[in-house]
Amino acid sequence: MTDITIIGAGLAGCEAALTLSSLGHNVTLYDAKPATMSAAHHSDNFAEVVCSNSFKSDDLYSGSGLLKAELRILGCKLLEVADRVKVPAGGALAVDREKFSSQVTALIKNDPKITVKTEIVDKIDLSMPHIICTGPLTLEPLSSFLNEILGQSLYFYDAAAPIISADSIDMSRVFTASRYDKGEGDYINCPLTKNEYYEFVRELIAAERVRQREFEKDEIFEGCMPIEIMAMRGVDTLRFGPLKPVGMVDRNGEMPFAVVQLRKENEEGTMFNIVGFQTNLKFGEQKRVFGLIPALKNAEFLRYGVMHRNMFINAPNAIDRHFMLKKYPDCFIAGQLSGVEGYVESIASGLLAALNMDRALSGKRMLDLPRETMLGALTIYLETHHYDFQPMNANLGLLAPLDRIVKDKALRKREMCDRAIEIMKKLKND
Ligand SMILES: Cc1cc2nc3c(=O)[nH]c(=O)nc-3n(C[C@H](O)[C@H](O)[C@H](O)COP(=O)(O)OP(=O)(O)OC[C@H]3O[C@@H](n4cnc5c(N)ncnc54)[C@H](O)[C@@H]3O)c2cc1C
Repeated sequence: MTDITIIGAGLAGCEAALTLSSLGHNVTLYDAKPATMSAAHHSDNFAEVVCSNSFKSDDLYSGSGLLKAELRILGCKLLEVADRVKVPAGGALAVDREKFSSQVTALIKNDPKITVKTEIVDKIDLSMPHIICTGPLTLEPLSSFLNEILGQSLYFYDAAAPIISADSIDMSRVFTASRYDKGEGDYINCPLTKNEYYEFVRELIAAERVRQREFEKDEIFEGCMPIEIMAMRGVDTLRFGPLKPVGMVDRNGEMPFAVVQLRKENEEGTMFNIVGFQTNLKFGEQKRVFGLIPALKNAEFLRYGVMHRNMFINAPNAIDRHFMLKKYPDCFIAGQLSGVEGYVESIASGLLAALNMDRALSGKRMLDLPRETMLGALTIYLETHHYDFQPMNANLGLLAPLDRIVKDKALRKREMCDRAIEIMKKLKND
């Protein structure tokens, strides 16, 4: 079996390494950690979950849920770990991030076919089998090297939400419930009255931000929009977005005017994430403005929200749908750097790149997933979306339409997702 080098032991790199090793290959896995960390990485462990601990919906009839279901069919290693260390989060799959990363790290380090090297990789011998998974914060000089060989890479700005300590939440001002009663009250809900909500929005818009000039360039990914930018779109925007109260009933049996949700960060429930509060406010301003939410008046911030430059390649020019570099077919690029967006999408690309690297090395046909599957639809987007390419996450809008008209939206979704699962089950052994 061939020796394969993987650069980056993040979500994509770890999935790729474990997959290739399970197929009998020897893998050398490089990461700069723990000797050198990017601005968003803090843990010594691999497969670090850098921001929210949510892997999004686990409902089969949603884009992210369907992607997970397909990955489970393909034997995804990191999702197995995620399922083992999940924390309650309604219909979402959220993980205890420490346990997740330490269990993945243990799998990697205990695998006799994987050799780990702690090093900043600066350039790559493109004539040898490599999978490059250095993520949106690829360290220099590798990012310049990639720019040189692939043409100018692209970027946008990504924001992370703050984490607060559980014992600093004023529990007399909250209620526990999941929207529409799904998930047995997994969230802590912080209600706001009409006056409290409008004061909060006013202060949020006026608060001091970091790197204000870069915002003006408008290179923010819609799915990670800072809450203060979203608030600027209209005074009620947040009430119809992350602070929406629909489907919730407070302690008095009434629907509050607006609700801030807190989601468990760890199994023990000692840390909570403020859901949807990714932000670029200065740290002092986060404490002041988020402290206007009555239950968070004295919140202790364990980690403040931050904003980062997020690099990705121009996928339609650089790679094909198998994640193989068009100019250098011995090399693949996976993870967020390849133009997918999100934790599960990064894992998925690591898995598919590894399966295809294995097929390429053994002279087999590549795994060609059709647009009827979520993973296929995502990779076809990467290969073909030439105009104004932007990273993409799993969503049902990418799927091929049904071959007959189904007017009922819910039924249509179900049929598309059931079709995807059937196809994936058949293709697994193709
Ligand atoms: C601040 C921030 C917040 C995010 N929040 C979310 C979120 O809430 N939800 C979500 O779904 N997605 C989020 N993302 C997007 C994305 O899903 C994650 O970045 C995800 O971790 C990407 O996985 P990856 O494997 O591509 O890269 P990473 O997980 O970042 O792994 C890359 C690895 O490569 C290593 N590395 C980098 N350069 C070098 C080098 N030159 N030599 C050796 N090693 C190197 C790094 O140390 C790291 O371990 C966020 C991204 C950022 C930057």
